[in-house]
Amino acid sequence: MSELLPLIDTFGRLHNNLRISVTDRCNIRCFYCMPAENVEFMEKSELLTFEEIERFVRVAAPLGINKLRLTGGEPLVRRELHKLVEKLAAIPGIQDIGLTTNGIMLAEQAADLYAAGLRRINVSLDALSPEKFKKFTRRDGFEKVLEGIKEAQRVGFDPVKVNAVSVRGMTEEEVVPFGHFARETGADVRFIEYMPLDADNSWERGKVLFAHEIIEQLSSAIMPLIPLGQPDKNAPATDFVFEDGIGRIGFIASISQPFCMSCNRIRITADGKLRNCLFSLDETDLRPLLREGGSDALIVEAIRASVMAKKEGHEINTAWFIQPDRPMYSIGG
Ligand code: SAM
Ligand code: SF4
Repeated sequence: MSELLPLIDTFGRLHNNLRISVTDRCNIRCFYCMPAENVEFMEKSELLTFEEIERFVRVAAPLGINKLRLTGGEPLVRRELHKLVEKLAAIPGIQDIGLTTNGIMLAEQAADLYAAGLRRINVSLDALSPEKFKKFTRRDGFEKVLEGIKEAQRVGFDPVKVNAVSVRGMTEEEVVPFGHFARETGADVRFIEYMPLDADNSWERGKVLFAHEIIEQLSSAIMPLIPLGQPDKNAPATDFVFEDGIGRIGFIASISQPFCMSCNRIRITADGKLRNCLFSLDETDLRPLLREGGSDALIVEAIRASVMAKKEGHEINTAWFIQPDRPMYSIGG
């Protein structure tokens, strides 16, 4: 349902995909995202309410926004998230709602989320042993994530995607186990190249394990991977299947093969800042409009202005790249 002119930026990219961060809080501390200790979280009063998020989506949907993903921080620590899903699923024009979670609280919430209308789940899991899990997350919880994946599959989510950040020196020994995991559980495994959005500012290009290296490792240790056609040309992942048709593996190669020219996303942070890119250095504060009686027309104007200001690409591979002040947990990945 697109009653107004669609959101096309100055490079001709059509935007139909909105990522909504519902909190910056999290129950673990992945090193590539959060500081180890003393995290300064947003005050509760700073977070958009479910009603404010719903209003924003109702205004954005007629501009062609039809795909939503809830994220954070850890979205499942926001109380009664299924109630937000229900509100969003009822908005005319919204065709698809997804969730990205670390899976720790998923077993207890999967059934309610499914009943509320959620159909796509991505669970982040970087390692397949409890010890290695703790190296990535600085917390326990490995078993709970596995339980969450199983429960999500049991209640009907299909596919459940498992996202693993690929970090040189850490991910190599997880690659083959993840290949077998995809074949045995039916979950799609996707490796995401480590990006410069860590709170500690310690990202370096040399710390990224690249997609092509993982493809080589899986192909020689298990069997060749065959590329699958891209059903959605805007999806950032490139998907493969093992030669015998069992086990899907995808790659989000943000560093080695940037996909900015097909980007169709905008984001709203938990405190109501609209961002046109993960790596953007600017953002638009929508909370005053949403909270203090701004008209729909003013919100539409702000969304359009943000889309029109979107840059061509993320510039990570240039000498002039500047890492945004907000780390991943505070933007919403
Ligand atoms: N807490 C949820 C989770 O971990 O799935 C949702 C938010 S998290 C920020 C969203 C995704 O971003 C996760 O898959 C996470 O692994 C990924 N991510 C976080 N920091 C990253 C980084 N520096 N580079 C690449 N991916 C990152
Ligand atoms: Fe939490 Fe997700 Fe960030 Fe890990 S990646 S610290 S789970 S928000």
